[in-house]
Amino acid sequence: MAILSKDQILSIESSAQDVLLSVFDNLDSVQPPIDIFKILKKYNLKLQVGRFKEENIAGAYKRLDNTIFVNSDDPYPRQVFTIAHELGHHFLHNDKNEEVFLRTALTKLDGQNSPQESEANWFAASLLMPKKLILKYWELTHDVEKISAIFGVSPTAVYFRLKNLQLL
Ligand SMILES: [Zn+2]
Repeated sequence: MAILSKDQILSIESSAQDVLLSVFDNLDSVQPPIDIFKILKKYNLKLQVGRFKEENIAGAYKRLDNTIFVNSDDPYPRQVFTIAHELGHHFLHNDKNEEVFLRTALTKLDGQNSPQESEANWFAASLLMPKKLILKYWELTHDVEKISAIFGVSPTAVYFRLKNLQLL
């Protein structure tokens, strides 16, 4: 995700941390996996899980309806990442009233997306894999698959999070 500047990254990391703190009070006591539903509840966001007419859609977001949509055909860790991505738009992009998140954008965690998509992906990763927590578990395991199981995210998402934190 090289297209994001250092300042952008710091600001996204701190936004994600603020959201976590507003929901969990004390981050030191938070155990992975992060309960994304608790976050949705806190911010009165509705979740709709179902199928889209088009196959290539992972999720969507409508600000006016306070609603996030996620594709029920996707594996659970991917659904959670999609929800966290839409939360990224909700918290970071006030100018974005709705979006459709394509599966192809979900797999491009390496910076080939538009800036807002990269920002939302970075936000999602910081929300689901908070820096302090992932550092701790990386020290303990040095194992992407184990961390993936502990945090309930895909190994690909873990790989890019570790890489972005320059641990890989
Ligand atoms: Zn998006």
